[in-house]
Amino acid sequence: MMAMKYFVFPGISSRVVFGSGTIEKVADEVANLGRSKALVLSTGFQTKDAENISAMLGAQSAGVFAGAIMHTPVEVTEQALKIFNKSGADCLVAIGGGSTIGLAKAIATRTGVDQIAIPTTYAGSEMTDILGETNAGKKVTRRDASIRPETVIYDTDLTLSLPVPMTMTSALNAIAHAVEGLYASNRNPIVTMMATEAMKAFKAGLPVLKNAPQNKEARALTQYAAWLCSIILGQSAMALHHKLCHVIGGRFDTPHADTHAILLPHTAGFNAVDVPELLKPVSDIFGATPGIGLWEFATELGAPTRLKDVGMSESDLDTAAQIAVETPYPNPRDFNRDDIRNLLQAAWEGAKPAY
Ligand code: NAD
Repeated sequence: MMAMKYFVFPGISSRVVFGSGTIEKVADEVANLGRSKALVLSTGFQTKDAENISAMLGAQSAGVFAGAIMHTPVEVTEQALKIFNKSGADCLVAIGGGSTIGLAKAIATRTGVDQIAIPTTYAGSEMTDILGETNAGKKVTRRDASIRPETVIYDTDLTLSLPVPMTMTSALNAIAHAVEGLYASNRNPIVTMMATEAMKAFKAGLPVLKNAPQNKEARALTQYAAWLCSIILGQSAMALHHKLCHVIGGRFDTPHADTHAILLPHTAGFNAVDVPELLKPVSDIFGATPGIGLWEFATELGAPTRLKDVGMSESDLDTAAQIAVETPYPNPRDFNRDDIRNLLQAAWEGAKPAY
């Protein structure tokens, strides 16, 4: 039985519209915010999606800025801000993954404008008050209420185009939010419930998508799971896993979702040694122990399992371990530099975690 101790549930402030074809509600949602003109943001790769939204908005569109890139560099934000200020827009619509949603957050926190996020990956930036920005090669992450989008439209059809490899790594990125929510220093029973529900939905949906990426029911189920994981990320103090991903992604420019996918079994296994009861939902759902269960699930999905395959050399592991212990996040299990170096070695080799 779960012990009901003191906790704070900060609440969920974003309005969420979920379902197939919900993108058609975008004009209504701009009006619902009391706004009249939106600048639409995307990456270059998703320019067509942004133009499609702009066309749906008609007179409510102030144009498209399709220059979002990974890690929200401040130079791109400054460029987008100039366009935003000239465009006459009074709100933002961001369609894409964490990179595009990050750009909207960066503009919103500087101007106070409202944002509508339309996520097309499972990364989970849309429900959070977190912004990571890169300035002169250094990524700095902060939290502030002005960063969180006011409205999120989940159109389950928009994930149909996600290639299978990215579907799997992006979902494992989301599962990492759930796993760290379970043992977060500010964990609460609602987050535990959402994490359990999300992992069950991913466990059911991802194997279907591996063979049938166009399966709409599985897409809807996995995006529902991703929504829950995004709420968890926005409510929880992240720990060792997110710290390592930030260190490695920031320093060695490894792909964001792949880095999460590779490290998750190792960080979960490491922490499960000290808090097996908190991570019990992970082993209940994925089998074996948390680390082994997640590693076997990731392997079954064909996700990457080795840091050596995403551009890290073995000597980079020394640097990463050193940075990780300099300003650690709170974590349920104490660790020193050697612990982290050993964990990274296993993740670099793609070894099955011991626990
Ligand atoms: P991404 O946004 O960089 O997208 C990767 C590529 O996939 C882009 O070219 C994008 O246009 C394309 N893409 C997106 N959706 C697609 C679809 N449905 N079909 C085909 N292509 C599609 O990747 P991401 O993993 O979503 O986001 C990573 C970034 O988000 C990182 O910078 C990370 O730090 C940030 N992030 C922030 C938070 C937060 O709370 N602040 C949370 C998670 C991630």
